[in-house]
Amino acid sequence: MGRYTGPVCRLCRREGLKLFLKGTRCDTPKCAIERREGVPGMHPFRKGKASEYAIRLREKQKVKRYYGIFERQFRKYFEMAGRKSGNTGDALMSLIERRLDNVVTRLGFAVSRAGARQLIGHGHVTVNGRKVDISSFLVRPGDAVAVKDREHSKKLAASVLEMEGMPPVPDWLERVTADPPEGRVSRLPSTQDISLPVNPQLIVELLSR
Ligand code: SF4
Repeated sequence: MGRYTGPVCRLCRREGLKLFLKGTRCDTPKCAIERREGVPGMHPFRKGKASEYAIRLREKQKVKRYYGIFERQFRKYFEMAGRKSGNTGDALMSLIERRLDNVVTRLGFAVSRAGARQLIGHGHVTVNGRKVDISSFLVRPGDAVAVKDREHSKKLAASVLEMEGMPPVPDWLERVTADPPEGRVSRLPSTQDISLPVNPQLIVELLSR
């Protein structure tokens, strides 16, 4: 799968909010959002009112950048969400939040989603005791997500777990054991569990055009 290799702070500045793409650095005064105002580029302070389309587009981009998803996969999630009963926007956010890279980050085993993707890709993560090296794997309630019970894997996760100021584990997940680090999915995530300030309804309106 492709990945964005450009400057990530630029993405935060474009969206005008912290997307927490650099782990612990995001909570320090070095954060680009704290130091530089305006959007990146030649005209950081654009005049005029944003169009209805632009507002909706920004909501979609915000979600894609926060979770590190590309357009094609995002559209797939939208199609899947559309097939579910209930509110499509809520279903979309719940689906994306269930990605394994997000779960590994939210459990505190990796410092960022990019870090989690590396951990998963290198085979350090298991789901229900079996190695899973696909970051987009969707967890289900009852799944046990753990770091492999071997020295090197545990060391990688421990270095993050021992860090101060890491965000708390959300309600829909729980940490069960520390050695090896293991967590469990207690229930499906709802929109209240999403830490990103986003209006999913605007994304639905954009993609349903
Ligand atoms: Fe975004 Fe983190 Fe960079 Fe701040 S330090 S701009 S939150 S990626």
